[in-house]
Amino acid sequence: MSVRELVVLGTASQVPTRHRNHNGYLLRWDGEGLLFDPGEGTQRQMLRAGVAAHDLNRICVTHFHGDHSLGLAGVVQRINLDKVPHPVTAHYPKSGQRFFDRLRYATAYRETVDLQQAPVDRDGVLATTGSYTLEARRLSHPVESYGYRLVEPDGRRMLPDRLAAHGIKGPDVGRIQREGSLGGVTLDDVSEVRRGQRFAFVMDTRLCDGVHALADGCDLLVIESTFLDEDTDLAVEHGHLTAGQAARVAREAGVRHLVLTHFSQRYSEPDEFERQARAAGYEGELTVAHDLLRVPVPKRR
Ligand SMILES: [Zn+2]
Repeated sequence: MSVRELVVLGTASQVPTRHRNHNGYLLRWDGEGLLFDPGEGTQRQMLRAGVAAHDLNRICVTHFHGDHSLGLAGVVQRINLDKVPHPVTAHYPKSGQRFFDRLRYATAYRETVDLQQAPVDRDGVLATTGSYTLEARRLSHPVESYGYRLVEPDGRRMLPDRLAAHGIKGPDVGRIQREGSLGGVTLDDVSEVRRGQRFAFVMDTRLCDGVHALADGCDLLVIESTFLDEDTDLAVEHGHLTAGQAARVAREAGVRHLVLTHFSQRYSEPDEFERQARAAGYEGELTVAHDLLRVPVPKRR
């Protein structure tokens, strides 16, 4: 049984609060774990959330501000301390290589893990595995920032009534799947396209083309909404989104489950983010994230 879920490790922008850790998000996708934006304290939040160093296969950093990357030092040392047996690949803006180098080698430790550096310097595909393609898109923030998107390849759903109508059963079902046709019956006759699932991680940014491209058709979208709508001027000035802006993006993109996060410490009432997102016309599933929350990728339609 493949597990696809988001584990929220932290939800605070800029500084942690009494109730919110710096950012940190683990996506479990079949057998893999992708850690996004490990802010300060991520190692301990992993412990609290039941995420082990061995669970990590990739680390994706959107940009080098502290709330998205200060936790790298601890996480990198922990995967080495625990002697994670598989390679771990790190993606981050290439323009921040010096920050990555410092965080990777912040203090002395014994290196035991194959930590592969795969910096990002343009839009495009970063990796392709059997269960997803990982892509990056440039965002708009005072320091260079990239959002990430996982796209599962489309598959095929076999249709039992059509198979029966053509008298195809038993091992012949596997044969037509492998070979594309059988005795004049094509795969199209007995199956339909099963659209691959999509996940995107968008942070930190003001509205730009990359935001829309990343969100397009997502089953699950994690997106920053640092500010409430009454502070739109601040959001634009500092390169962030408001709850209403994020929700409008999700509405236009046909997102099924929207997760808002990365909240400014100036607000004490999380319900207001939900209210403004709904006022913007987003009607899908909506979660205002809090630390240690788990959000399953929505079931296939
Ligand atoms: Zn931030």
